[in-house]
Amino acid sequence: MTKPILVVGGGPAGLAAAHSLSALGKKVVLVEKEDKLGGAPILSGYAKLVPSGEWAKDAIGGMVKRVEDSKMIDVRLSTTVSELSGDTGNFTAKLSSGDEVNAAATVMCTGFTHFDSVNKPEWGFGTHQDVVTTTQVEQMISSGKGVRCPSDDRKPKRVAILLCVGSRDRQIGREWCSKICCSVSANIAMEIREELPDCHVYIYYMDIRTFGLLETKYYWKSQEEFKVKYIKARIAEVTSNGEQLIVKGEDTLVKRPITIPFDMVVHAVGMDPNVDNRVLSESFDVDLEPHGFIDRADSYGVVGATSRDGVFVAGSATGPETIDDSIAQGKAAAMSALECIQATK
Ligand SMILES: Cc1cc2nc3c(=O)[nH]c(=O)nc-3n(C[C@H](O)[C@H](O)[C@H](O)COP(=O)(O)OP(=O)(O)OC[C@H]3O[C@@H](n4cnc5c(N)ncnc54)[C@H](O)[C@@H]3O)c2cc1C
Ligand code: SF4
Repeated sequence: MTKPILVVGGGPAGLAAAHSLSALGKKVVLVEKEDKLGGAPILSGYAKLVPSGEWAKDAIGGMVKRVEDSKMIDVRLSTTVSELSGDTGNFTAKLSSGDEVNAAATVMCTGFTHFDSVNKPEWGFGTHQDVVTTTQVEQMISSGKGVRCPSDDRKPKRVAILLCVGSRDRQIGREWCSKICCSVSANIAMEIREELPDCHVYIYYMDIRTFGLLETKYYWKSQEEFKVKYIKARIAEVTSNGEQLIVKGEDTLVKRPITIPFDMVVHAVGMDPNVDNRVLSESFDVDLEPHGFIDRADSYGVVGATSRDGVFVAGSATGPETIDDSIAQGKAAAMSALECIQATK
């Protein structure tokens, strides 16, 4: 087994796949389109992660270092794969750099794209400066600057977090739940309350999906210890009266219209299919599922199988996933790749 395994995408899933393979003595070529490894948690500057509470730069930074330090892993940054020909045991990948890689199998870990809130214009992003996204708030916290209103750098006294922005929204063609944003939003709400104890934080929701054990750690803790307020509502629009943002909608528990002023409104953005997926589907010759994520075979037998033999997929490339699950899938897809090479020998 001298040919390397090609891993595409250097986020949590790809880092886990590459590390597992290298730890088992297998050579890896890791292709990443950006100029650094780490995926969304590093590239988008996440702060403290759910559920570990570790800073992203430490937790995912540690995974990056492990890969960068490995002699078994050949990292190609600022690179993409333009074509993958061949079969299991003998793939040839043409890279954007002009190089070619001869690989025994491929693991796609190409991740997701954050929902762009300008696609939900009635909720004020792109029109009002103090309407921001969860990613922006993560960056405010991780940079050490703290949570401030972008328009004038003031400390907000009232913050509204709107859930399901770009998720569970049939009107804009995004039917899926992004899985993690309820917990991430509760976490951010607690961070804001900790930094700014006088700030009132409201979370507007359709349903709360702090799944599994996260219910205690985020949903109840945010209310009972941090006094975050939850309002079940349908939001119609976010406007401005010149001084403050105005959130208008309906409180769906009491069935009354609501019009409430805030200093800052935060969109809990969801996870879209990677904008590259059409191109990736062609260059790797793998199917997409109906929402546009990379299709993963519904099989307990071969974890991470795609529509093409010898090409596996892991993490949020397949749909919204948490970091924990992306890492687990990266490792599992790496094992599937090894098994399939072994079977063709
Ligand atoms: C606001 C927000 C906060 C979040 N916070 C948390 C949290 O606290 N805890 C948690 O568990 N999850 C969180 N998530 C989810 C988390 O971001 C994902 O679970 C995780 O990033 C998935 O890892 P991945 O490796 O599958 O994909 P990604 O992190 O998206 O990594 C994919 C990598 O592939 C690269 N790539 C993309 N296309 C190509 C291409 N064509 N060629 C080569 N390389 C390519 C990308 O540049 C990237 O480096 C959050 C999500 C959002 C939206
Ligand atoms: S996790 Fe919560 S905020 Fe995210 S899409 Fe699902 S229900 Fe909406």
